[in-house]
Amino acid sequence: MPMSAHFDIIVIGAGIAGASVAAHLAETRRVLILEMEDRPGFHTTGRSAATYEPNYGPPPMLAFTRASRDFVVNPPPGFADGPLLAPRASLFLEAEGQQAFTETLLKLGAGLEELTGRQAGNIYPVLREGYASRFFLDPNTGDIDVDLLHRGYLKLFKSRGGQLLTNATAETIERIGGKWRIATPQGVFESAILINAAGAWGDLVAKKAGVKPIGLQPKRRSVGVIPVDGIAGAADFPTATDVAETWYAKPQSGKMIVSSADATPVDPHDAYADDMAIAEGIERLMTATTIEVTRLDHSWGGLRTFAPDDSPVIGYDQHAEGFFWLVGQGGYGIQSAPALSRTAAAMVMKEKLPQDVMDAGLMLSDILPNRFQ
Ligand SMILES: Cc1cc2nc3c(=O)[nH]c(=O)nc-3n(C[C@H](O)[C@H](O)[C@H](O)COP(=O)(O)OP(=O)(O)OC[C@H]3O[C@@H](n4cnc5c(N)ncnc54)[C@H](O)[C@@H]3O)c2cc1C
Repeated sequence: MPMSAHFDIIVIGAGIAGASVAAHLAETRRVLILEMEDRPGFHTTGRSAATYEPNYGPPPMLAFTRASRDFVVNPPPGFADGPLLAPRASLFLEAEGQQAFTETLLKLGAGLEELTGRQAGNIYPVLREGYASRFFLDPNTGDIDVDLLHRGYLKLFKSRGGQLLTNATAETIERIGGKWRIATPQGVFESAILINAAGAWGDLVAKKAGVKPIGLQPKRRSVGVIPVDGIAGAADFPTATDVAETWYAKPQSGKMIVSSADATPVDPHDAYADDMAIAEGIERLMTATTIEVTRLDHSWGGLRTFAPDDSPVIGYDQHAEGFFWLVGQGGYGIQSAPALSRTAAAMVMKEKLPQDVMDAGLMLSDILPNRFQ
């Protein structure tokens, strides 16, 4: 066997969830990450819209995202060789019949500024007159450099002695003699603690381990990329969305991404874009704005995975000793990762939870797996 087969903790999945929690735990424990693909980040982590939006998500994700702000604005020295967050405001538009969504936005939202139509038009000159009746600006949002954030955690993990194995699908998982024994094409590995950070495959990993699944549902989201040549100032447009989240668009790398915010339930797989969903996103963008889309540059699809109540599932399984859930990050797993991973690591180690995250409003009962058991 090429490496030690015994670890304190084995993490299944090298997406943002697995990489970030493992980086914390490797400070004091021998940690192995098993990743089934030939590189980390191949699935959902590499396919996000890369937005930091502290007013987006269910209450636990709002708490994690808000408590992650300091980290993404000011990462520790040496974590990343560039900024993790580039400020970009978000503009929420209330279209016809969407009053109820505005109420929810205002109830959970913080720091939103209501604008007049004229002010909104100044910030988003392509906004079509008459499309929306109310306009809200969130000035505290931005674009996250997902690759830098993810690589930063993996670098930290390795610098602390952590080991990452790719092409290492956890094929069978057994509990033997008080340890998890995990067989992969690259060898058999053992640890007292197993962290299930397998994203869309979270329930399948649980089933392999003989643990009752949560009822996770991967939902496909499709993103199209359109050229914006000839639209003055497009690179500086805010992220724009309607309050009902039936479409969003934001500038990215000299182009613009657009989505109909589709959320189609699917089985875990290597996701691809749904052309119809992209066509709908483009149509809604053209209804809301004066942008004329004549060509699609490229597109991608990804899986956002949700627990039945849409909140993440973080904590030890009540019935399977040493089996720790870290799944159900939905569409918020990047923006929340810094605080979520600190909290998860403290829970793995059975230490006091970070006070700043609790102060941001986290209710432990909202994230524990026992709410489904
Ligand atoms: C289109 C889209 C837009 C999004 N936009 C945003 C956004 O703007 N902001 C935001 O915060 N979030 C966003 N998200 C959500 C975010 O990307 C996810 O919440 C996050 O990436 C989930 O990370 P993860 O590590 O749980 O999953 P993944 O990145 O999928 O990682 C799970 C890993 O587990 C591995 N694995 C599975 N089974 C096994 C096994 N048996 N053995 C070994 N390895 C295994 C997989 O190969 C995979 O690499 C978006 C998602 C999508 C799809």
